[in-house]
Amino acid sequence: MGHGITGWDESVSDYIIRLGTEETAPMQALREETAALPAGGMQIGPDQGQLLGFLIKLLGVRQALEIGTFTGYSALSVAQALPADGQLVCCDVSAEWTSIGRRYWQEAGIADRIDLRIAPALDTLAALEAEGRQFDFAFIDADKENYDGYYEACLRLVRPGGLIAIDNVLWSGAIADPDNKTASTLALKALNAKVRVDTRVDFCLLPIGDGVTLVRRR
Ligand code: CA
Repeated sequence: MGHGITGWDESVSDYIIRLGTEETAPMQALREETAALPAGGMQIGPDQGQLLGFLIKLLGVRQALEIGTFTGYSALSVAQALPADGQLVCCDVSAEWTSIGRRYWQEAGIADRIDLRIAPALDTLAALEAEGRQFDFAFIDADKENYDGYYEACLRLVRPGGLIAIDNVLWSGAIADPDNKTASTLALKALNAKVRVDTRVDFCLLPIGDGVTLVRRR
């Protein structure tokens, strides 16, 4: 799972990575180091990294926010697509996992664009609101039970017309299983249903990776 592209066998997965991404050497090394970890399945795929970088450039994002950094692959994908004076604020609770990312951010020469804040993300988001920060883009990929809180905070922190990308909205298919009532699944089901009728946003659910919903703040 950590190595390839969700839903495709190895040969097609390899093709997508070779022809469908511009993965750099630091990105590949980071992805492979992460895939060897017990929790390696938590990292996004290279196709998703390509999507995030593309969206950053498409939207001309200068101020980006990430909730859930893990070992830093998505942050690297976003930060290297930012302009040189752009900034990415990363929220995570693990100094250990993010220390892996820091090495590769340095290697890629974009570490100065990343402001990593080690704390519960809801606390960091409240601090960012108190600082009066505004973002063009946010990526939500942390603990699922707090997704609704992250979503609401992002709707306050992301400017009108800005984009919020929400990861794992299909939850390996559990989202469509009426008998799956784990706390994470219920949180994702509730948020997906809420976004569907949320008059504050426009949205599109992409079946890439484990499902990514793109949400545009009106
Ligand atoms: Ca994820």
